[in-house]
Amino acid sequence: MSICAAPAKGHILVVDDIQESLKLLATLLAAAGYRVRAADSGELALALVAASLPELILLDLGLAGMGGLDVMRRLKEQKESWDIPVVLLSAAREIEPRVECLKLGAVDCVARPFQGEELLARVQSQLTSRRARAALEAEASALRLANARLHAEIAECRREAEAVREARTFSSTSKLQRSDDHLAAAQRIAHVGSWEQDHVTSEGSWSAEALRIFGHDPATFVPSFATFFATVHPDDRELLNQGLGRLIRENTSYDVEHRLLMRDGSIKHVHEQCSTTFDGTGRPLRTVGTVQDITSRIRAEAQIKLFRTLIDSAPDEIHVVDPATLRIIDANESAWGKLGYTREELLALHPQDIDTSDPETHRTAGAPPLNDGAATFETCHRRKDGGTFPVEVMIRYITLDRPYALAIARDITERRRADGEVQKLQAQLRDQAVRDPLTRLYNRRYVDEAMERELTRAARDQRPMAIVMCDIDHFKFVNDTHGHLAGDEVLRVFAGSLRSCARDSDIACRFGGEEFLLLMPDMPSAVAYQRAEQLRTALAAAPITAGTAVIQITASFGVVAYPENGETMDELLRAADVAMYEAKLAGRDRVVLGPIRTASSASAGSATTRAGVADQCAVRSTDMSLRV
Ligand code: GH3
Ligand code: MG
Ligand code: MG
Repeated sequence: MSICAAPAKGHILVVDDIQESLKLLATLLAAAGYRVRAADSGELALALVAASLPELILLDLGLAGMGGLDVMRRLKEQKESWDIPVVLLSAAREIEPRVECLKLGAVDCVARPFQGEELLARVQSQLTSRRARAALEAEASALRLANARLHAEIAECRREAEAVREARTFSSTSKLQRSDDHLAAAQRIAHVGSWEQDHVTSEGSWSAEALRIFGHDPATFVPSFATFFATVHPDDRELLNQGLGRLIRENTSYDVEHRLLMRDGSIKHVHEQCSTTFDGTGRPLRTVGTVQDITSRIRAEAQIKLFRTLIDSAPDEIHVVDPATLRIIDANESAWGKLGYTREELLALHPQDIDTSDPETHRTAGAPPLNDGAATFETCHRRKDGGTFPVEVMIRYITLDRPYALAIARDITERRRADGEVQKLQAQLRDQAVRDPLTRLYNRRYVDEAMERELTRAARDQRPMAIVMCDIDHFKFVNDTHGHLAGDEVLRVFAGSLRSCARDSDIACRFGGEEFLLLMPDMPSAVAYQRAEQLRTALAAAPITAGTAVIQITASFGVVAYPENGETMDELLRAADVAMYEAKLAGRDRVVLGPIRTASSASAGSATTRAGVADQCAVRSTDMSLRV
């Protein structure tokens, strides 16, 4: 049964086995605006609850059959109904079951007989209370839900924050790693390593490049000053020890170049710089340093020093000239030393200030010479004191960072002097080769050459050429009487007389012991004869003084000429010889003209030879015209 007269204020189940009471209650509640269902037994009541949950149950405690207490128990056992407020209706005597029901959770108890208004008030109060509780529970539930959501959101935020933190940590870690990698690469490229040593903990660390420079194995290396010093060259250890000691004690700067002696015996050069931090009491805390491998730089510097020493040790002047400005921009020690300048003075000059040659030479020296970038010439250099000396200059052009002209000047004073000596010597040798050392007249070898030459010229120009051959008379007697030296003097004086009667174009020659020849180009025999005669008479007129002796000599002359006495050298010499011996035969101290050459005489042979004449000249020693 369900009763509802007006819009329901609440849904109430009334349970009472007394029909009148049940009806009265239903009517009362319905009149008050409740929706009412009625059950006249416990079983029906439970069935109605199962079908639809009421908001409140008004339960008669004294039900027949399933009593009110049992219904109460069943309601409280079921989870759907355990919280439905139950208001008991009980008679005063039902004390025990009422107490039991209240213990089980009945919210109120209305004693029979009841006042309608009181009942309604209690019902309303319980409903209000239940609704308030339900609202509270809903609110609590909503709060719990919100709380759960909030927790979920917080958890999500935490997860996100954690993810961000992790991402940031990863990013900064990889940035740090990258930065470390960059540093290591930079150190490797620049050959600069770094290290640090903690003085408090005695712990240290070296960068990979520092380990590489010192040749340490990163896997086994233990950083310490001891391991550092183990690689330092023994000769440099004291220097470093002092430097590091001062750095730590006095906080002085530490900037040192020293050597490392590597395990394989090789030497490395390093540049070290470091600094130390101190605490407030002046106690050293930490030293941080860098080490740079400067082996290549030191070797390059050594090479440059070596070359500079080499250049400065060179005996030649070496100048470096700027081809653009023609200024001397560098010079070796020999250059400024030989020229008498200081290095600074020389570097303020131009090549033309020290070179005496035409300034045009220097203007053109600005342009590279064609000959493979180099040119050689001789000139003179002028010293600061004005003195000059000859030099051979080799100029070479090279282009490095810009063009340079290198001038290497060699002092050739000595070479010039030696050249002069050689030339003099060569002239002497040439002279000796063609002159007789006693008389300084040409020798026979020279006359042979000269006669061939002059004959060719005479034939070409169709000009005459005369030959005067002469022999001192009884010269053996001079030697025998006055000695060989006096004989030499006679030969010298005779040669002088022969020379003085000759023209510049004539060639006077000592032909043999005391036999002479005068070759007279462009000279007819008649004139040659006169010359010979003049010489003969001059000899007769001028005795020769040799030491204490005064010696009078005479000579016999044979005069021939080209072409009438012969056309070849042999023919002419033979003819001259014959003529001279004819003079001897004829009594000496005379001049004989050679016979005119005819076809028959040319073929006569021995009749006109010196031997032939000699045969006719059997004994001549008695025929002496020598006057002493
Ligand atoms: P003749 O009138 O026939 O020519 O008689 P001669 O004595 O002049 O001739 P001979 O050939 O018999 O002697 C020549 C001498 O000249 C012999 C030689 O010792 C000497 N004589 C040759 N050369 C030199 C020399 O260079 N110095 C000296 N002092 N004597 C020389
Ligand atoms: Mg003689
Ligand atoms: Mg002779």
